[in-house]
Amino acid sequence: MKMALFFRRIATACKIQSIKSIEKILLKQLAFKQWLFLQSEGLRCIHKFGFYIYNLPPTSAILFVGQLERHFKALANANQFVNVQDKKLAQALANQHNGNYRPDNLPSYGFDSLKKGILCPKFFSFEHTDTRENRICTTCGHKEKITDAIYRSILEFQMLFPEIPVSVQTIFEWCGGKYTKPRIRRVLSQKMTKYSNGPMTYYKN
Ligand SMILES: [Zn+2]
Repeated sequence: MKMALFFRRIATACKIQSIKSIEKILLKQLAFKQWLFLQSEGLRCIHKFGFYIYNLPPTSAILFVGQLERHFKALANANQFVNVQDKKLAQALANQHNGNYRPDNLPSYGFDSLKKGILCPKFFSFEHTDTRENRICTTCGHKEKITDAIYRSILEFQMLFPEIPVSVQTIFEWCGGKYTKPRIRRVLSQKMTKYSNGPMTYYKN
């Protein structure tokens, strides 16, 4: 699913060093040894929507999804020369792509063991205050629409628990019981498609 770990409440287990190690192993496997030196100065791209590394020190060495467009524009404008070896590496990396990848070394976690509530996307704090429409982090002041915060939390839930159907009750609990079920149902109905399986109603992207 992602190059590194992708979860939130267990985020301290995610170390940037592990990403570097994965890259080195991959490049070694692909026998592009000359890139082992170059990549030590390179960028790491985290290109999964909704993925964050919490408690990450400030660094320009990592690109998250929101930074990619500007990065690729800059690359395109740089007019860099691409040689045969570059193309071989690009093809070898493309061949390794696995759209269904899910790390097999995740620490065990379950729905019941994770703290419920919505995290601030900037400071990763649960502390907040609400107006009628907006949710405001009391730690850093970040403001977002409550609708957006709920949906962001739904996407996180899907990443963490792909095996659990998304239902109003589950998301109500996941958001810490803070927002009413009708409100959560509205977000689910607006952003996702509703399915019924007997008495159970669930939602998918
Ligand atoms: Zn905040």
